[in-house]
Amino acid sequence: MHSVDPATEQMIRSVLAYAEERLRLDPVPLDGGPRDPAELGAALQGMLNDRGNDPDQVLGVYAATLAPAVISADSPRYLGFIPAAPTKAALLFDMLVSCASIQGISWLEAAGAIQAENQVLRLIADRAGLPATAGGCFVSGGSAGNLSALVVAREVAKRNAGPAAAGRRWRAAVGTDAHSSIISTLRILEMDALTVRTDDHQLTGDALRAAIEADGDPSSVAAVVATSGTTNAGIIDDLAGVAAVAKTRNLWFHVDGAYGGAGLFAPSVRRAYDGIENADSFIVDPHKWLFAPFDCAALIYRDPSLARSVHKQDASYLDVIHDDPAEWNPADYAYHLTRRARGLPLWFSLAVHGIAAYADAIEAAIGLARQAAAEIRSRDYLELIREPDLSVVLFRRRGWSGEEYTRWADQLLSDQVAFMPPSAWEGETVARFAFLHPHTPMDLVRRILDRMA
Ligand SMILES: *Cc1c(COP(=O)(O)O)cnc(C)c1O
Repeated sequence: MHSVDPATEQMIRSVLAYAEERLRLDPVPLDGGPRDPAELGAALQGMLNDRGNDPDQVLGVYAATLAPAVISADSPRYLGFIPAAPTKAALLFDMLVSCASIQGISWLEAAGAIQAENQVLRLIADRAGLPATAGGCFVSGGSAGNLSALVVAREVAKRNAGPAAAGRRWRAAVGTDAHSSIISTLRILEMDALTVRTDDHQLTGDALRAAIEADGDPSSVAAVVATSGTTNAGIIDDLAGVAAVAKTRNLWFHVDGAYGGAGLFAPSVRRAYDGIENADSFIVDPHKWLFAPFDCAALIYRDPSLARSVHKQDASYLDVIHDDPAEWNPADYAYHLTRRARGLPLWFSLAVHGIAAYADAIEAAIGLARQAAAEIRSRDYLELIREPDLSVVLFRRRGWSGEEYTRWADQLLSDQVAFMPPSAWEGETVARFAFLHPHTPMDLVRRILDRMA
C-alpha cells in the first residue's frame, strides 16, 4: 500500500537507490582533492529558486559535482586526522533514525530509543569500570561532551566553595597535549588552564602534584582533564596517578577519550586505561573508533545526578517530561535540548555484530600501527618518533623540510593513493599515520613509505 503521491514515490526510489549504491561501495574510494570554489558555485547556480527542481535533477547535481568534492573519511585510504569506518549496519540504522523522526530529548517522547542508547552507555561504562549508577547521554561530538562535562565540574566546584568564592575565576589542570576542544571549552567557561609540563607528553600524577604544589592559587583548580589517547600521538595519560591526585585534592576528574576511549575494548591495551574507573566524567566518540556514523559521542558521568542538577532546563512547557524521577531524559545531561537518538545506530550495529567483532576491529588498527612502526624502523631514510601506544604513528623522513612533506602528501591525494596530511611534533613538521579502518592493507602502508624514499 502506498500512501505517498507518485512524485514522492519516485524521489524515495531515486534517493534510496543512490544510498544503496554508496552503501555497497567496498572499499569506499578516497575522492576529494582540491576544488575550485567558482566551479562548485557554478554547478549550484540557480538551484534555490521559487519553483523548486525535479528531485532527480538535484540528486544528479549532488552525485556528479558535490559528492566527489568530499574526501571520504570512511575510505581505508583515509589515514589523516582521525578517520571514520562506520559499519554498514550503523549507516543503515542511521537512515532509519532519521526516517523515524525520533525526538531524543525525553523518556516521554523516546523511551524505546533511550532504553537502547542507555544499554550502549552501560556497556561502555562497564568497560571503564564505572559504577552501576553511572550514566549520561549521547551528544554530537567530543567537543560537546567535554564542554558539557566541564560545566558540571565548574558548577560543582562553585557549590563546594560556597558564597565566599563568588566571582572567582576557576581553572582546570591539563596536560600539554590536551585536545584543542579542551582549550576552547575553558575559554567558553571563562576558566583558565593550569598547564602541566610533562616528560614525553604524558600527563602523570607526579607532574600534576608538582604543578599544583608549585602553584600560587591551588584552590582555584576545579578539575583535571586527562586524555586517554591524545589525538596527535595516541598517548594515554597516567590515569591512575592523576586519579589519585584528583582524589586527595578534591578535583573533578574528567577523561577525554574521544579518539582513544575505544581502546577500552581492545585486550592488548586495556591495562593502559587503569584508573579510568575513578573518572567523574568520561567521553568517547563512537563516530571515531567505535565504527558509528557522524555525529556520535558518548558522555558518561560517575554521578549523573550532579550533571542533571546543572544541565536540566526549566521551562513551564517542559515540566511534563520531569514528572517521574525514574524516567531518564538525555536532555538533562548536556547543554542540548533537541537531539537525534544518535546512539541507536551504534546499538543496532553492536547488537548485530557482537562485541567481539568490535574488539577485533580495534585490535586490527593497533596491529597496523605496530607493523607500520616496524616498517619505518627498517628503512634508513625514516625515523620513528615514538613507539605507538594506540593506532597513531608519528615519524620523520630524514632531511625533509615542511614543504617536502606537503608536496608528498598532496601527491598522495591527487594520485588517490591516500589522504595523509603532515602533522607537527615539538615544532617540527612530521608524517603521521592515523589507522582506524580495519581494512587498510599493509601493502598500502608500504607503498606510502616507498614514496618517501
Ligand atoms: C576528536 C577529539 C575531540 C573532539 O571531538 P569532536 O567529536 O571532533 O568534537 C576531543 N578530544 C580528543 C582527544 C579528540 O581526539
